[in-house]
Amino acid sequence: MSVIDPVLRPQPRPGVLAIEAYVPGKSAAPGVAKIHKLSSNETPLGPSPRAIEAVRAEAATLALYPDGSATRLRAAIGARYGLDPARIVCGAGSDELLTLLALAFVGPGDEGIFCEHGFLVYRIAILTAGGTPVVAPETNLTANVDAILAAVTLRTRIVYLANPNNPTGTYLPFEEVRRLQAGLPGNVVLVLDGAYAEYVRANDYTAGLELALDAPNVVMTRTFSKIHGLAAQRIGWMVGSEVVVDAVNRIRGPFNLSAGGIAAGAAAIADEAHVAAAIAHNDEWLAWLTRAVEALGLTVTPSVGNFLLVHFSDAPGRTAAEADAHLTRAGVIVRRVSSYGLPNALRVSVGSAEANRAFVDALADFLGPQRS
Ligand SMILES: *Cc1c(COP(=O)(O)O)cnc(C)c1O
Repeated sequence: MSVIDPVLRPQPRPGVLAIEAYVPGKSAAPGVAKIHKLSSNETPLGPSPRAIEAVRAEAATLALYPDGSATRLRAAIGARYGLDPARIVCGAGSDELLTLLALAFVGPGDEGIFCEHGFLVYRIAILTAGGTPVVAPETNLTANVDAILAAVTLRTRIVYLANPNNPTGTYLPFEEVRRLQAGLPGNVVLVLDGAYAEYVRANDYTAGLELALDAPNVVMTRTFSKIHGLAAQRIGWMVGSEVVVDAVNRIRGPFNLSAGGIAAGAAAIADEAHVAAAIAHNDEWLAWLTRAVEALGLTVTPSVGNFLLVHFSDAPGRTAAEADAHLTRAGVIVRRVSSYGLPNALRVSVGSAEANRAFVDALADFLGPQRS
């Protein structure tokens, strides 16, 4: 008889089987000719023309490996924000960096904290690393520093805070972030996910970047997927202390960014006029959408991002699920957020003028003549 048991099968670690894979926003409405995709917080302005040109130029050298250190991109980011490029690591989207941070600092038996309605990638990252996810309750759909600090134990190794948060759009002012950092043990890595930083008007991000440079346990992650309009290229970056940067550089893939991503990111971050246009568009249409949805009798969580969270009634015929189905039939694709603990809300990205109007028209049509 063979010493090899014939019924043995590969067995993923228990943490792996606890992961519910991330489900991206829908991108199709079957049978509808014209669709407006407002489900993934992409920018209606698209990328900088300079970024498109930079990707095209890379087509000539596709056979060559890219620069594994993304030197050009780190230099461009450093120049834009006054940061030492040695303290920057780039990733295949900030999602990759969020996962690498967990892999570098969290192990079996360790805990990682994130907020009640926080971005789902955090839970997946902590479980991927073999750690235990710990959820801190929120107040009024907003992160609560005292609740996060109360969740800290001797086993805590990482805290993720999206600021502003997706899908709520709510925001903690810098004094609160500072209070959180001051209250955490020095061995706990505080990850400030600034995916929507550029859209925030009360801009505390200079202070956030400085904190990430000064405090050994603070990291800020940023992305080119949102305001820079380069989601398809998968480009993110983080800034942090030498210890954190060194750890992530040891475990990341040696060529984790494509040549096109490096070139596009470097071009995009230098095009400040394009970013300013995207901010101006968002300011105008976020306010317009908020007023229009409230005028229909629905509640909107005040947002500082490029999306808004709309709350629906529990009454049959009026729920978020039914609204989503109606909007989809009208070609307006929004995001259900049940997996974020918000079963009766929808998240809507700020789109083009045409898409925003199509959304409000379809929503008015759904609510009918006798709205609340
Ligand atoms: C969109 C988003 C990101 C960005 O992810 P990428 O991998 O950079 O595309 C990160 N965090 C939050 C909260 C987001 O909503």
